[in-house]
Amino acid sequence: MSSRHDSPPSLEETPGHACGVFGVYGPGQHVSQLTYLGLFALQHRGQESAGIAVSDGETITVAKDMGLVTQVFDERRLAPLQGHLAIGHNRYSTTGSSSWQNAQPVYRSVGDAGFALGHNGNLTNTADLASGLGMLPGMIADETSFDSTTDSALVAELVAREWPDEPRSDGRELELALEKVLPKLRGGFSFVLMDDARLIGVRDPHGFWPLVLGRLEGGGWVLASETAALDIVGAHYVRDVQPGEMVVIDASGLRREHRYAEPEPRLCLFEFIYFARPDTRLYGHSVHAARTRMGEALARQAPVAADMVMPVPESGIPAAQGYSRESGIPYGDGLVKNRYVGRTFIQPSQQMRGVGVRLKLNPLPESIRGKRLIVVDDSIVRGTTTREVIKMLREAGAREVHFRVSSPPYRWPCFYGMDTGRRGELLAADLSVGEIREYLDVDSLAYLELDRVRTATGAPPESFCTACLSGEYPVPVALTGTDSKLLLEAPVLDLTQSSAAPGP
Ligand code: SF4
Repeated sequence: MSSRHDSPPSLEETPGHACGVFGVYGPGQHVSQLTYLGLFALQHRGQESAGIAVSDGETITVAKDMGLVTQVFDERRLAPLQGHLAIGHNRYSTTGSSSWQNAQPVYRSVGDAGFALGHNGNLTNTADLASGLGMLPGMIADETSFDSTTDSALVAELVAREWPDEPRSDGRELELALEKVLPKLRGGFSFVLMDDARLIGVRDPHGFWPLVLGRLEGGGWVLASETAALDIVGAHYVRDVQPGEMVVIDASGLRREHRYAEPEPRLCLFEFIYFARPDTRLYGHSVHAARTRMGEALARQAPVAADMVMPVPESGIPAAQGYSRESGIPYGDGLVKNRYVGRTFIQPSQQMRGVGVRLKLNPLPESIRGKRLIVVDDSIVRGTTTREVIKMLREAGAREVHFRVSSPPYRWPCFYGMDTGRRGELLAADLSVGEIREYLDVDSLAYLELDRVRTATGAPPESFCTACLSGEYPVPVALTGTDSKLLLEAPVLDLTQSSAAPGP
C-alpha cells in the first residue's frame, strides 16, 4: 500500500480512514491552536474536511470546511476561535456524501444550551435508530450542516431528544443524555463532545478505533485518536479511554470515568498494519516496532532467494527492514517517492492510471537492474497500484520480483468506519493467491498469516477486530442489497498460502 500520509485519495488504491478526533480542555491555553496542531498530526486519518468547535464558557463557535487542515485554517480563521475548550475533527467520508454539509464537528442546540460532536467510526444500526425517531437517516440535520446525512448527526439528534427537560444547576445535561443514548448505539464510535464548559470522550464497547487521554504541560487535558497527536501538542499520555467508557473533563479535572457497557476490546487490526502513524502507540506497543516484527515474521514464513529487499515506500518500509534483518538479504531502495504529492483535484482517467502512480513513485534503475527483488508492502486492497509498481520495476530491469505482504488478503468490507468500497472492488475478494500472483505478474507472492500479524503486535491476539481479513464480524451487520449478496456468495479461500510461479 502506498503511504497515505500525504497522498491524495484520487491516486490511491488504499482504503481511506474514518476520521481523526481531538479535544482539549485548557484554560489559559490557545485551545484552537492546540486543536489545529492535533488535527494536523492526525491528517492521515481523513483528508476531506476539517473542523474545530471552541467554547469560551458561554458560546460555542464552529468553523469547518472541505480540505486539509492547512487549507481550512490559517491564523486569520483561528484568531476568533477563542475559549478554554475545543474539539476538532478530520473527516474521511464513510457514510453520507463527501460534502461541506457533512463536515464535522456537528453542532446542535437544545433550548438555550448547545453541544458539538466529532465522530470517528460508523454505526451499524443507523436505520433502526432513525426509524425509532420516526425519520430516515437522510432527514437528520444539524444546525451548522443543514441536511447532514451522517450517522453522527443522527447521534446528535438522539442526544438532543434525551436532553433533560429542566436545566440543572450542575450543568450535567450532556452527559446524562449520553448515558441514555450510548447503550442504544451499535458499531464503531470514538466520540469527542463538548458543551460550553465540559469535554467528553467516549469509546464504543469494542473500542474499534483508538482514543487516548493526555495531560498538557502547564495543566489541562487532551483527547486524541492517536498518541502521536499528544506528542505534537506537548501532552503526555495518561491512558486509553477504555472500550465502553465515557470520560468527562471540566473545571475540576477528570471528573468522571464512567463505564456504560462491559468492554469487549476489538481494536481494528489495521491500525497496527497500516492506519496509525508509526510513532503512535496502541495497547502500549509501538506501531513501528510491530510493523518491523511483521516483516521479520514474513521472512520466516515465506523465505525466497534474492539479492535485495525493498519496500513500496513509505508504507512498506518497516516490514521491509524487518524482512531484511531476519533474512540477511540486503535492504535497498528501488523506488523513490515524490514527497510533495499533495492533494490533487485532477482525477486520472483509467488510461492515465500509470501516470498517476508515477507521480508518486518512480523506480531507481541503477539499484534494480539485473537483481532478484523482494518487494514488501503492508497490504494490497484493489491491486491496481501494486500492478503498476511491479510493471515499473520490471521495465527498470528487475530480473525477478517476489512480492511479500505483511498482512493477510483483504477480502471483506469494513462496516465499522473504514472506507474500502464494496467487496467486489477488493482484489482478494474472489481471487486465490495464485490468481493474484498472475494478475500482479510476480514470480512469487506471499501474505503474512493472520496469527503471525496478531502476535507481532505484542498485544493479546483476541483483542482485535479482523473482520476484513477473516470475515468474522464482532458486531453483526444488517446487510442489504449488493453487500449481502457478495458476502453470501463469497468463495472460501486459503488465506495463508503463498504462491510461486510454476517452475520452468
Ligand atoms: S473490519 Fe478491518 S478495517 Fe474494519 S475495524 Fe475490523 S479490522 Fe479494522
